[in-house]
Amino acid sequence: MTARYDVAVVGGGIVGLAHAWMAAQRGLRVVLLERSAAAEGASVRNFGMIWPIGQPAGTLLALALRSRGFWLQLHALGVLEVEECGSFHLAHHSDELSVLEEFCDQQTHDSRMLAPQEVVQRTPLANPAGLLGGMFSPTELRVDPRTASRQIAAWLSSSQGVDCQFETLVTRIENGQVRAADGRTWTAQRIIVCSGSDLQTLYPDILGRSELQLCKLQMLAAAAPKSCGAGSPHIASGLTLRHYTAFRGCSSQATLQARISAQSPELDRYGIHVMASAMPGGDIILGDSHEYGDDMTPFDNPQIDELILRELRKVIRLDDWTVRQRWHGIYAKHPTLPVFEAEAADGVQICVGTGGAGMTLAFGLADRAWQRWIGETA
Ligand SMILES: Cc1cc2nc3c(=O)[nH]c(=O)nc-3n(C[C@H](O)[C@H](O)[C@H](O)COP(=O)(O)OP(=O)(O)OC[C@H]3O[C@@H](n4cnc5c(N)ncnc54)[C@H](O)[C@@H]3O)c2cc1C
Repeated sequence: MTARYDVAVVGGGIVGLAHAWMAAQRGLRVVLLERSAAAEGASVRNFGMIWPIGQPAGTLLALALRSRGFWLQLHALGVLEVEECGSFHLAHHSDELSVLEEFCDQQTHDSRMLAPQEVVQRTPLANPAGLLGGMFSPTELRVDPRTASRQIAAWLSSSQGVDCQFETLVTRIENGQVRAADGRTWTAQRIIVCSGSDLQTLYPDILGRSELQLCKLQMLAAAAPKSCGAGSPHIASGLTLRHYTAFRGCSSQATLQARISAQSPELDRYGIHVMASAMPGGDIILGDSHEYGDDMTPFDNPQIDELILRELRKVIRLDDWTVRQRWHGIYAKHPTLPVFEAEAADGVQICVGTGGAGMTLAFGLADRAWQRWIGETA
C-alpha cells in the first residue's frame, strides 16, 4: 500500500534534514528517505564549521546568518550542542595581513583585527612564531559533524512528526510517487531531492547537464591541546583567503595569490588551504584539499596529507601531531551558483551542490525555498 504525505524528502544529509524541518514547521506531513542506516555523506565528514565569514556580503551572507539562527534554535531546543566559538584568520605573511586589513576596512562583516599578543591570549592554538596579526569574527559556530545529522533526524522523528525511513534507496520518482529499491512506495504533493554528491541515481539527465562538478577533500584529526577549552575559536590560515568568495573583493588578494603560485604551486595544484576546529570531545579536525573531476581517485594521496600538516604547523601549535584519523569527503559544486536548485518535474524539486558551505547555508536555503513554494513573504 502506498503511504501518503504532503512532502517526501530524498536524502538525510543536512540539506534534506533542513528541507524536512522547514516543511514540518509549516505543519506539513513529511517523510524523509535516506539510503544509509544514518547519513554518511559530506554532512558527517566536514569541519562542523558554520562559517558566515566565508560568504560574500549580500544575499549569501544574509542566508548564512539566517541559517546560524536556526542552528542556535536547535541548540536552545536541546537537539544538539552548538558552540558560539567565532573564528580567527591568522596572518603569518605581510600580504595576508594586507588582505585581512582591507577586508575589515570594508566593514561588510562583523570582524576586527587583533594584534599578535591579543590573538595568542584568545587562542592557545595560534602559532606566535611569525604571527603578524589575526582577524576575529564572532559569527562562526561549531557543531560536531559526526553526530549532528543523526541528532537532528532523531529529533525530527520524535518531536516534529517527520517519518524518517533509513536504509531506503530511492530509485524512481514518477507522477508524485517515490519508489524505493525494495518496492515500497510513497506519494507526496511535493518531492524534494537532496541527494548530495550522487548525480547518477535520480535525474542523471538534469544533473548531467547542470555543470555540477564533484570535489574530493582530504581531512585529518589529531588530539586537541589540553589548553584548548570549550568554545575555542575555529582557526583559518592566510591560505584560506584564496578560497572563500568573501575575500574576492579585496584587491590585495592578488599579491597573496601570486606569492603562493610562485613559491608553493603544489598548494594550488591540490587546492590546499588549512583550517582547524577543536571539538569538545578532544579531537581537533584538520584539513583540507580540493581535487576536482578527473583528478579524483578513490585512493587518498599521502603527499596531500603531508602538505596540509606542513602548512598547519606554520600557523597552529599542537602538543602532539600524531594523526588519529584520516578520511575524505566528496561534495558537488556548481562553478558559479552557491546551490543547484531545479524543478525536475511538476512538484519535484532538486536541491544539491552546496559545495563547501552546506552546513553554513542549508537551513537558510531550505527556509527560502519553502517561502518561495508556498508564497510566504519573508
Ligand atoms: C571534507 C568536507 C569539509 C566540509 N566542511 C564544511 C564546513 O565546515 N562548513 C560547511 O558549511 N560546509 C562544509 N562542507 C560542505 C558540506 O559538508 C556539504 O555542503 C553538505 O554536507 C552537503 O549536504 P547534502 O545533504 O547536500 O549532502 P550529503 O551530506 O552528501 O547527503 C546526501 C544524502 O543523500 C543520500 N542519498 C543520495 N541519493 C539517495 C537516494 N537515491 N535515495 C536515498 N538517499 C539518497 C545519501 O546517502 C546522503 O546521506 C564540507 C564538505 C566536506 C566534504
